[in-house]
Amino acid sequence: MKSRVYFAAARCEDGPSVLAEKARAVLQATGFAARLEAEDFAALKIHFGEKGNTGHIKPAWLAGVVEDVRAAAPRLFLTDTNTLYVGSRSNSVEHIRLAWAHGFRPDILDVPVIIADGLIGNDRREVQGEAGRVASARLASGILGADAMLALTHVTGHVQTGIGAAIKNLGMGCASRAGKLDQHSVAHPRVQTKACLDCGLCYEHCAHAAISRVEGRACIDDARCVGCGECLVVCKHGAIKVRWDGDIRRIQEKVAEYALLVKKHFGPKLACLSFLLQISKDCDCMARSQAGIVEDIGICGSTDPVAVDRASADLVLERAGADPFRRGYDIDWSFQLSHGQAIGLGTNEYRRIELS
Ligand code: SF4
Ligand code: SF4
Repeated sequence: MKSRVYFAAARCEDGPSVLAEKARAVLQATGFAARLEAEDFAALKIHFGEKGNTGHIKPAWLAGVVEDVRAAAPRLFLTDTNTLYVGSRSNSVEHIRLAWAHGFRPDILDVPVIIADGLIGNDRREVQGEAGRVASARLASGILGADAMLALTHVTGHVQTGIGAAIKNLGMGCASRAGKLDQHSVAHPRVQTKACLDCGLCYEHCAHAAISRVEGRACIDDARCVGCGECLVVCKHGAIKVRWDGDIRRIQEKVAEYALLVKKHFGPKLACLSFLLQISKDCDCMARSQAGIVEDIGICGSTDPVAVDRASADLVLERAGADPFRRGYDIDWSFQLSHGQAIGLGTNEYRRIELS
């Protein structure tokens, strides 16, 4: 059976109040708020954007959504989990301050920010895996303590999964640091020594001290490397690669399996709202402004994470012609969708319902 994906065309130029009403209309079409109960803790799962990033979802776009969710379940909160990489989101103190700096403040949205895996990312609960690659998922306690979830996703390209969309937001984004390590552990970056110019950037950015200088070239210690992918992104000379075939497929499959456990936890009280605005080559973990890889498209919503990602990708391909995600990183991002369908996370078959 086809899943329903609701879609409202939109551009950043429409302005915050128009975008807020369009996001509200898409969410209303999914019926999310109607399934909430007054006592529910409703998690609005978002990426607040790394320091210096400008592409993240803006608080003003969420005004209508927040109003509707609050009316149904007043105990709503904005949430994300701490990162593996060095940045401003690797502990809750800096993470919350950054969320405030990006406008997710009580005086603007009046929604508390709670970092779901605690002060340093180790508040977690183990959940038994149900598919092939994940025996036991380490999910953030604050996620599993909630009764309902709205996944608010900025759709972008991604260095390890090809696209960063709803499945990634649920699977990687709801994992504790240990869960992120588990998902990344299948990726093995390598330095191509001929291309390395010994600029030192990757040494500085590796949070796990896994890169050292050997004979004037970067060298990765596999015993220390956790596969977070930060070095891939920061190397401006393309000198760090992963094995795009096996590694990339396995990481996408693990992300989808974590997402399945999140979906099962929330059951019918899960919805996904995906913003196809300011779509960039890299995700919002980038500490900078990024150029768009395709024009602004709009907002998609569904209760099916696979369908909303499939519809989001299809909309991007329709607008751009050639796949702009693969122009950024030559990664077959479809593994997360096909594996997601195979394990029961959702379906690639969908019906797009356009809202005026
Ligand atoms: S960032 Fe790239 S070029 Fe610079 S030291 Fe690391 S691998 Fe070499
Ligand atoms: S060497 Fe490993 S741990 Fe260090 S930044 Fe690269 S992927 Fe991450």
